[in-house]
Amino acid sequence: MTALQDQVAEFLAAHDPKTLPRLDFLRARFDAGLAWVYFPPGLGGQAAPRAEQAGVDAAFAEAGAPDNQPGRNTIGLGMAGPTILAFGTDEQRKRHLRPLWTGEEVWCQLFSEPGAGSDLAALATRAVRDGDDWVVTGQKVWTSGAHNAQWAILVTRTDPDVPKHQGMTYFLCDMTAPGIEVRPLRQITGEAEFNEVFLTEVRIPDAHRLGAVGEGWKVAQTTLMNERVSIGAVAQPREGGMLGVLTKTWRERPELRTPQLRDRLVQLWVEAESLRLAGDRLRQQLTAGAPGPEGSAMKVAFAELNQKLSGLEIELLGEEGLRYDDWTLRRPESVDFTGREAGYRYLRAKGNSIEGGTSEVLRNIISERVLGLPSEPRVDKDVAWKDLPR
Ligand SMILES: Cc1cc2nc3c(=O)[nH]c(=O)nc-3n(C[C@H](O)[C@H](O)[C@H](O)COP(=O)(O)OP(=O)(O)OC[C@H]3O[C@@H](n4cnc5c(N)ncnc54)[C@H](O)[C@@H]3O)c2cc1C
Repeated sequence: MTALQDQVAEFLAAHDPKTLPRLDFLRARFDAGLAWVYFPPGLGGQAAPRAEQAGVDAAFAEAGAPDNQPGRNTIGLGMAGPTILAFGTDEQRKRHLRPLWTGEEVWCQLFSEPGAGSDLAALATRAVRDGDDWVVTGQKVWTSGAHNAQWAILVTRTDPDVPKHQGMTYFLCDMTAPGIEVRPLRQITGEAEFNEVFLTEVRIPDAHRLGAVGEGWKVAQTTLMNERVSIGAVAQPREGGMLGVLTKTWRERPELRTPQLRDRLVQLWVEAESLRLAGDRLRQQLTAGAPGPEGSAMKVAFAELNQKLSGLEIELLGEEGLRYDDWTLRRPESVDFTGREAGYRYLRAKGNSIEGGTSEVLRNIISERVLGLPSEPRVDKDVAWKDLPR
């Protein structure tokens, strides 16, 4: 047993997960530094190596302890949390990290706009200073989970007179503030997992600014690097995730098998296992610091694999795979890659090569920042944002 596992045992002896209300248990776990153990003391952790996290989570799960329902708050846990830790003031860290980790406050990401997706730095949502507040007006799009979120990470344009990467500022935005309107956007699965969000003269206190005025791009990079790791390098058991669903069907339904499908399944099994191990290695490397551009490679490979696995499942199931349970517009709380039917997985996996940066754009990042190849021509680098064609 490691020292941390001893601590978990002691904690469980003092806090019975069977009798303590769920939130009380989670808050106490945070306060004991056993939430994200690699975070600093006082903020849910104890500056332990990141590699210890999986063992701590497993020990709590084995004891039947409630978890913080990570699927409901992927943006909070995977992106907002690490960014607030890196750039937040002491006050912001104290205010936000605990309810974020316990899931009391769910977060969404107000980055993409109709004219700014891959080219996020083109964004046009304006924030204008007014006394102690900023007044924010603009439109965001593809905002996953905005309908469930209490808080958002938001990037805005504060200075249109400088080149696009320089004039942005990052905020923590209260989604219940007057002037915020969230409208569902139906996607290929029939559901509205994401939304368009209109901000009309929303007042955000300067105290909710994350990082310096004009440094929004730098702060957003931390969010985006974490996003790629949180999408592409989720810890999985061997034969977990979509592969697990596929192999279960394969084992239970021998009548569906053909030698050709077997070859492809084994090939994908090997790819999935290599990716799983590469994810373990990447998470261990993160012990040494914040994620860098190498997370982009994991995310590209994850998207390709999910699309191949869900495609093979449809072929294996034949007509049955083409059935779809329900096209009613729903607004789900989380994405479910394993609990739903094959048709849902196939359609939802299409978004994997778009969300968190498209595969084309991530390949550009890998070629420039990992392999050191020449950059794409960028003619707008020195032009003021207001003078760019839109
Ligand atoms: C399921 C899902 C959830 C999402 N959730 C969120 C969210 O919560 N918050 C949020 O802010 N955004 C979210 N997004 C938006 C996502 O980040 C953007 O869709 C993505 O960055 C691409 O931007 P775009 O859609 O504007 O496409 P565009 O940038 O217009 O790209 C169109 C096409 O051009 C290609 N392309 C663009 N630039 C280049 C280039 N330089 N080189 C080569 N090819 C290029 C792209 O690869 C793509 O194929 C989500 C998207 C999806 C699918």
